[in-house]
Amino acid sequence: MADGAAVVPEPLGFEEPYGVIALEPRTPTIAELLLRPLDGSLAYLPGQYVLLEDRDGAVAPRSYSIANAPRPGGELSLLVTRVPGGQASAWVHERLRVGDEVSVSGPYGSFVDDPASAAPRLMLAAGSGLAPIRALVEAALRAGARSSLTLVFSARTEADVIDRERFASLEQQHPSFRFIRTLTRGPGPPPHGRVPALLPALGDGLADHQVFAAGAPGFVTACAAAAEALGARRAAVHTEVFFAEPQPWSGAAPRAGEAR
Ligand SMILES: Cc1cc2nc3c(=O)[nH]c(=O)nc-3n(C[C@H](O)[C@H](O)[C@H](O)COP(=O)(O)OP(=O)(O)OC[C@H]3O[C@@H](n4cnc5c(N)ncnc54)[C@H](O)[C@@H]3O)c2cc1C
Repeated sequence: MADGAAVVPEPLGFEEPYGVIALEPRTPTIAELLLRPLDGSLAYLPGQYVLLEDRDGAVAPRSYSIANAPRPGGELSLLVTRVPGGQASAWVHERLRVGDEVSVSGPYGSFVDDPASAAPRLMLAAGSGLAPIRALVEAALRAGARSSLTLVFSARTEADVIDRERFASLEQQHPSFRFIRTLTRGPGPPPHGRVPALLPALGDGLADHQVFAAGAPGFVTACAAAAEALGARRAAVHTEVFFAEPQPWSGAAPRAGEAR
């Protein structure tokens, strides 16, 4: 585990039933799913992920990062990107309905923060990579983070920007928090371009920062390299890579959760 991280809870190892209480398109490719526990709720740390599957076992379980800090009622929010030809993401986008039951197991992963750390934080996300980052931001602000907390969110176009108003409102409430969205394709006010190219312009070096990056493999690798080039210590660069799950025929590869 990288430094500055909390002790992660052991996964419970069994599935819990959850009910779908909301399912909304958030961008042309990302849907937000809100789940409420029907029995016991999973205890988790902000930044962790769960395995989601249908109650009949007809859809293969897939990993999804929890997009909110823990709530008293145990609700879980997930941001699911539609993958062309994808089994689980098509189920969420096309067949799942409010009122349906799903199975959730976990929590998994060590992409977690140490709320006691006084280090400034830089959070980097693209697409549904915003999910674990949003949970970490929520938790840090809730804990009263006084050192700077900057979230840089990369989207192709303005239509792909999630939670613009929510983050603008958090900026008003928390002077330490800054939200920057960058567009990689569409028109709109600056900034434009990919996150790694943007980082040098954000300010001083990152030697004292805790850096978190989540999303597709290429995005995360490029962000981690850029952060280290700006002085971030390797142990202070935390990454969550949304790799494609091993397919049933891939034999030797471990399932998500088992190898992490
Ligand atoms: C730790 C972790 C956390 C994750 N968190 C999230 C999350 O919060 N939100 C989210 O949307 N996804 C997340 N994922 C990815 C998710 O688990 C699935 O891999 C994704 O939803 C695709 O599953 P599927 O069943 O629809 O596609 P599959 O049926 O598994 O794949 C169909 C085809 O698409 C390809 N493919 C699979 N995944 C991707 C991808 N991500 N990008 C491009 N091509 C792909 C496959 O190689 C295959 O050719 C996470 C993955 C990991 C490992």
